Amino acid sequence: MIGVKGWCPGAHRPMMSGDGLVVRVRPRLARLDRAQALGLAALAQRFGSGVIDLTSRANLQIRGVAEADHEVLLQELARLHLLDADASLERRRNVLVTPFWQRGDLTERLTRALLGALPALPELPAKVSFAVDTGAAPLLGGASADVRFERGSSGLILRADGAARGRPVTEQDAIPALLEMARWFDANRSDSARRMRAVLGQARLPQAWQAEPPCAAGPPPEPGPHAAGMVIGAAFGQFDAAELARLLGESEAPAIRVTPWRMLMLEDVADVPAGPFITAPGDPLLGVDACPGAPFCASASVETRPLARKLAARLARDAAGPGGLHVSGCAKGCARARPAARTLVGRDGRFDLVENGCAGDPPNRTGLSPEDLVTGAI
Ligand code: SF4
Repeated sequence: MIGVKGWCPGAHRPMMSGDGLVVRVRPRLARLDRAQALGLAALAQRFGSGVIDLTSRANLQIRGVAEADHEVLLQELARLHLLDADASLERRRNVLVTPFWQRGDLTERLTRALLGALPALPELPAKVSFAVDTGAAPLLGGASADVRFERGSSGLILRADGAARGRPVTEQDAIPALLEMARWFDANRSDSARRMRAVLGQARLPQAWQAEPPCAAGPPPEPGPHAAGMVIGAAFGQFDAAELARLLGESEAPAIRVTPWRMLMLEDVADVPAGPFITAPGDPLLGVDACPGAPFCASASVETRPLARKLAARLARDAAGPGGLHVSGCAKGCARARPAARTLVGRDGRFDLVENGCAGDPPNRTGLSPEDLVTGAI
């Protein structure tokens, strides 16, 4: 089972990576209380490499776990209430939540109701997920989800991902409507259409489910102080568990929230001391993807992240827009599956440049040295 690709790894079914098992933790309601966050940081140091990934699905990953330690790590995660005892339930718990929810609000109520209804879902492909994006304005439109709760002009809507409009629902009939949509998806999916967008390419949604558009999306969240706490970014979506523990100790935050934007929020915190986390809005590093590269990955012939840091300010947020730079150690492109304005791909100690494409696409230029790139060759 370990090492299979093309499915979403979870805690019970970890993925084998070059540095050991990757054990994914799915926080409920995008929140870890202080004890959970400190406990997770300790487990990442005790059983893993001490590095934690923040994923685009707002999950956390402990890296570098030995197979022999997997079982005891699961027991420790369960002790922290970060794991479902039932592996099939854990696998279904792909629920993305807008991280700025407040206690008792619609987002919390709907999410709790959805978590309670997971056993009633049909058996769905592992990557199928749900978004509860019911703040004042949708924020999760760019994040992967197949079925979305959002706000429309008349109130709550349920929208199939890929459809421009959704089905108006009340809070009371929201979960039955979601189960109905999940069953429709299940009845219309195929081996080649395993996500909602693809299914909509081959089946028509009921007309009543396309009645109302969502409200206009809110501005992309940035690092810095927010009403509910301090948002901090993690360059390349990774941070040291020890740094998180240190920050929790210094800030006395009661909890952290996870986001799909490579950022965390420290609840009820207004400021954090300088450190490795990104705290300034507009920091170009948040727009850069880079895999670990050499010497950490055997497939790489180039260092990636040091170069990405040097190029970030000039290339990441230029006219091509945010997320414009991807530095990849090889053509596999692990750090970013979708196209970037510029992708630098390591090959034989130099870089090829792919414009508006992915790491595996044909390059526009070849044989660029790191020095060429730093001194402005592109
Ligand atoms: S893209 Fe290549 S070099 Fe980078 S982590 Fe993946 S396999 Fe390794």
